[in-house]
Amino acid sequence: MTAPCVADYSCLEICPVSCIHPHPDHPDFDTVEQLFIDPQACIDCGACVDACPVDAIHAEEQLPERWKHYARINREHFEVASRV
Ligand code: SF4
Ligand code: SF4
Repeated sequence: MTAPCVADYSCLEICPVSCIHPHPDHPDFDTVEQLFIDPQACIDCGACVDACPVDAIHAEEQLPERWKHYARINREHFEVASRV
């Protein structure tokens, strides 16, 4: 996800492998400013790209230049989560 994400959860509902977090049953669900895609679990099906109403999701190789650092932000979200 990139900065335009408005956390409306359209992508989360459509993802076939549930790799978009946090899920609705997670304590952080109501407080996060954006959702995150786990790059290890994502199968690159593209369903979330089409579902997003604000164009906040891009395949990594198609990330606009100004959003390129979000690949790292998404990856690090899960690296930090796996350490706690
Ligand atoms: S591209 Fe990845 S994150 Fe998006 S719906 Fe498919 S598996 Fe889920
Ligand atoms: S569909 Fe787009 S705006 Fe909605 S939560 Fe997913 S990335 Fe964010």
